[in-house]
Amino acid sequence: MHTQAKASLGLNWINRFAQLGENFFTRLRPTPLPDVRWVSCNHGLALEMGLPPDWINRPGVLEGLSGCAQIAGSDTLASVYSGHQFGHWAGQLGDGRAIYLGEAQTDLGNLEIQLKGAGLTPYSRSGDGRAVLRSSIREYLCSEAMHALGIPTTRALCLTGSRGIVYREEVERAAVVTRVSPSFIRFGHFEHFAAKGDTASLRTLADFVITHYTHLLEESEELEAFENEALRTQITQNPYALMLYRVTRKTAKLMALWQCVGFCHGVMNTDNMSILGLTLDYGPFQFMDAFVPDHICNHTDQGGRYAYDQQPNVAYWNLYCLGQALLPLIGDKDLSVECLDIYKVLYPSFKQEIVLRKLGLSKLHSIPTDVAQELIGKLEKVMSLQEVDFTIFWRTLSTALSHFSEKNPGTNTLTTHSAEFKEINALFSNTRAQSAWHEWFAEYLKLISSGSEDLAEISGMMLDANPKFVLRNHLGEAAIKSAQRGDFSEVQILLKILSTPFDEHPEFQSYADTPPDWASSITISCSS
Ligand code: AMP
Ligand code: MG
Repeated sequence: MHTQAKASLGLNWINRFAQLGENFFTRLRPTPLPDVRWVSCNHGLALEMGLPPDWINRPGVLEGLSGCAQIAGSDTLASVYSGHQFGHWAGQLGDGRAIYLGEAQTDLGNLEIQLKGAGLTPYSRSGDGRAVLRSSIREYLCSEAMHALGIPTTRALCLTGSRGIVYREEVERAAVVTRVSPSFIRFGHFEHFAAKGDTASLRTLADFVITHYTHLLEESEELEAFENEALRTQITQNPYALMLYRVTRKTAKLMALWQCVGFCHGVMNTDNMSILGLTLDYGPFQFMDAFVPDHICNHTDQGGRYAYDQQPNVAYWNLYCLGQALLPLIGDKDLSVECLDIYKVLYPSFKQEIVLRKLGLSKLHSIPTDVAQELIGKLEKVMSLQEVDFTIFWRTLSTALSHFSEKNPGTNTLTTHSAEFKEINALFSNTRAQSAWHEWFAEYLKLISSGSEDLAEISGMMLDANPKFVLRNHLGEAAIKSAQRGDFSEVQILLKILSTPFDEHPEFQSYADTPPDWASSITISCSS
């Protein structure tokens, strides 16, 4: 039951989205769950936000963040959006189980706070408005893991559980994730009003994004990708074209970041694409174990539309949907296409920049683009020939160079068969991969030696660019199994490790190992 007294999070609420007008959302109350309890609190995020230290102990906060009581200052609502799902227009969707509490001023800037799994909304369609503990743990942990990896994402403040039951393939426990983000506006919000021919609302929404989030979308020297000066001027003078370009740029960067940690989203429908270029809506995602470029992480995605190597193209396709929706505002088809097609320049250049950083090849090495592209292409080929573990490969390469520099201070002559490279060489055990690996490795070591930087510095950079820990499916699964038995300690351990994924954490070495055999039987689908 909703209690009368409102819980306070000690925040100042501004709720700007709630002022947009009622054709953007429906006001409602969350539906309470029985016997709610904390599963995990993200104290690190709470501290960053500047929440009062006693926030979790304040009366009514547990209930408030589980949808069972009101939080002072909140203005609860569900927003309406539409979207393309698996390549087809799906019509109206909307927040079917996420309820906006409001937007608060925090030390991280203004943040919207949402309760995912807090009950039915007018947009629930055939769903029950709930989220299961299993998928809520995955979202809670993964969003923090992504943040710690330096990848733009929505975040999670806490996770609460309940004795309430929900029905999926089997009976499961309900949970609520408290998500935070500067905004949860999706491509699908724009598609919704465009499809209805409601240009006034479309403009209101675009103006809202431009007014409130330009500081998050713009970047210095951002139009440099366009060689044509006249085109740059044209874009600058059209606020909606400029917004589309900025979203394109943010999305291109996000895709490059995902690819470089082996992240597969699993359901890149346009309603799951953030207008701010954030990773949004964690469902059947996966960090790849073995490097298989066409790996499909979502068992519902039988055609592989959202396979790992398809993601950058899908993002471009999704951006076209956004561009189409914004066309009535931009008013110039050619200009829209220019703002979208620059993706083909931006994405590969972001990816190259990140991969070179992972390889320890900084600007000082001044590697020409064609050499870099060839080096990266060959490496991906070798990695796929071996189907080497993605995260272990990159981390082992970094530690190999680090060990070499420790043992051979000042030496710049590196040969593939040095004792310190035993471990990395051993990763390429199959005969087809072995010779290709040695050829690539020799070429790479030559490039590394050609720079003026010290090897210790280079390997230090690499250890900061290649995480030791990612949320592998089997790690999440173990935490889920314990949590389903009422033991949340594994969630806490994972939160700690994944919040500092570049640290060694020697006591948690096994969390960095290849998956056990049973991991191959884990199936992750859209069911959540
Ligand atoms: P997703 O693929 O999880 O991003 O969800 C697509 C649409 O289905 C969105 O409108 C969601 O709000 C809605 N949805 C997903 N699961 C549920 C649920 N259990 N209850 C109500 N709506 C849901
Ligand atoms: Mg979604």
